[in-house]
Amino acid sequence: MTASSAPPPGTGLLVIQAVRKKHCAECRSGPLPLLVLEGGVPRCLDCADLGHLVFLPRGDTALTRRSREESTLSAVVVRFDRRRSRYERQGVLVEEAALARAERRCLLDEEARRRRRLRDAERRAAEDVRFTDAFAAEIRRLFPGCPDERARAVAAHASLRGSGRVGRSAAGRALSEAAVVSAVAASVRHVDTPYDQLLMSGVPRPEARRRIAGLVDETLGRWRAAG
Ligand SMILES: [Zn+2]
Repeated sequence: MTASSAPPPGTGLLVIQAVRKKHCAECRSGPLPLLVLEGGVPRCLDCADLGHLVFLPRGDTALTRRSREESTLSAVVVRFDRRRSRYERQGVLVEEAALARAERRCLLDEEARRRRRLRDAERRAAEDVRFTDAFAAEIRRLFPGCPDERARAVAAHASLRGSGRVGRSAAGRALSEAAVVSAVAASVRHVDTPYDQLLMSGVPRPEARRRIAGLVDETLGRWRAAG
């Protein structure tokens, strides 16, 4: 074995996935799929007292880390990659009970994450409802004549577009008088004027806006005044 193909040091117990056919120096079994080198001499896992361990392929970082934490005895499995001229990690050997405990911990984590996601979703839904209520209340304060249904529809729409999801300060900005007036005006434009028909018939947007501006102002003025 050349220096460049020596297994990486400092990784604890190393088990090698044999590339060439080797037999155990002690019990002569083989060819060995997995072997341990002790003083350059190959031994099978049983003779190296690792026969009771189970193989966990690499890939699941959390499960691998926890399995090794739970396992009194563990080993890193490597294979020599000729093309790259170096040993590559293939997985670990751990105690079966340790693997089971690690899997349980990962499942519990997954369950905890699932519950946290549910709580987050519920909190966001509650925030959206609070935001919608606050927005509707602000519409009614500024436009006492605005029909209740309309105020709620505009508020719900605003909530969909931003609301609790964007945080307290953004929600505060969204509730500013200018933002509320602009949302109500947009609703009036689309619902109470022929604005959309004008756009559909090819009238340029600034011209369409100009034509319906009077109607929008009139409606907003009526809603502001009526108590
Ligand atoms: Zn052996």
